[in-house]
Amino acid sequence: MTEKLYYKDQYIKKFTANVLSCVKNGDNFEVILDKTAFFPEGGGQPGDRGIIGNAKVIDTVEKSGEIIHICEGEVSGEVNCEIDWDFRFLNMQQHTGEHIFSGIMHAETGFDNVGFHMSENDVTVDFNGPVSAETLDIVEKRANEAIWKNIAVEEILPDNDELENYDYRSKKELTGQVRLIKIGGVDLCACCGTHTARTGEVGMIKAVNMMNYKQGVRIWLKIGAHALDDYIEKNVSVYDISAQLCAKTSEVADAVAKLKDRMAQEHFRFNELKKKYYELKIESTDGGKPVIFDDSGSADDARMIADMLAGKLGTGIAFSGDDENGYKYAVVKRDGDARETGKEINAALNGRGGGKPEMVTGTVSATKAEIEAFFGI
Ligand SMILES: [Zn+2]
Repeated sequence: MTEKLYYKDQYIKKFTANVLSCVKNGDNFEVILDKTAFFPEGGGQPGDRGIIGNAKVIDTVEKSGEIIHICEGEVSGEVNCEIDWDFRFLNMQQHTGEHIFSGIMHAETGFDNVGFHMSENDVTVDFNGPVSAETLDIVEKRANEAIWKNIAVEEILPDNDELENYDYRSKKELTGQVRLIKIGGVDLCACCGTHTARTGEVGMIKAVNMMNYKQGVRIWLKIGAHALDDYIEKNVSVYDISAQLCAKTSEVADAVAKLKDRMAQEHFRFNELKKKYYELKIESTDGGKPVIFDDSGSADDARMIADMLAGKLGTGIAFSGDDENGYKYAVVKRDGDARETGKEINAALNGRGGGKPEMVTGTVSATKAEIEAFFGI
């Protein structure tokens, strides 16, 4: 049985061990050592990476009680080992942060953490009850206060009799030696993972999103280095928007809302002008072919123009688009059946569409010249 150095001291980065076995499995080798500081995947925490001898360790897993180091090369004898400390410390921050957040959420709401997932960029935690935005704010604030107090993170290994005296959070029924992680009065939880020695090392916890999930909520957390990365990314983005809108960083949301309002007004004004333009264009038609082209590519515009044209000539046909992307069309008839014209257009101009006797709409894959030739314009 491999000696678990990571439970003796979670800050061991380098150690020397003996290779007990090294078995080829596919492209990799499964290595078992007499002792290891490599933490195997478990409790929502990914397995450690690093180096054993000259071989890169890409993952560490536990199978049938054995700790297996997945190595890219073969190793033997006594080996110097080093874990990827940046990756491990990031995981320790995430894991400890999740304890703090879940413990405080449990105290505030009584809800349990029923799902925990660590990804490359964030952590999600699921709680089995509804959480309001106000409660989330309170929990987030209290979690960060617990970080600032730099509380010791302790390991307790109670025997079965003692265990009954502890009121601890646990995700599942546990057998064998239970390992409790105590963070002052903030949290007490059964856990097999690695944690920082004190809460201060977690740095910061930011809840960035929450959505309803099953009977409760899923919350996205940015913890430690992930929180800083997120802040850097958002800071760059906010200053960029601020410069483009000539607004203070604290007022960019208001500035965007104003910009959207102005765009809606401009869009409305543009449509009114467009309507006037087609009114004038239609007024000046001398009773020739009731066909008008528009370049917006909008089905709504085609319908509007065809309807206006039918108001003057009884029949209105509009094509909106360009040769490259094809045309949307609308046929409007005040008397007669627009569907007949629609069928002729579809057959002659590689089109599709349909509608009611008073109006049909559709698309054609044809050039302006081909359309004009069809109507003899
Ligand atoms: Zn833990």
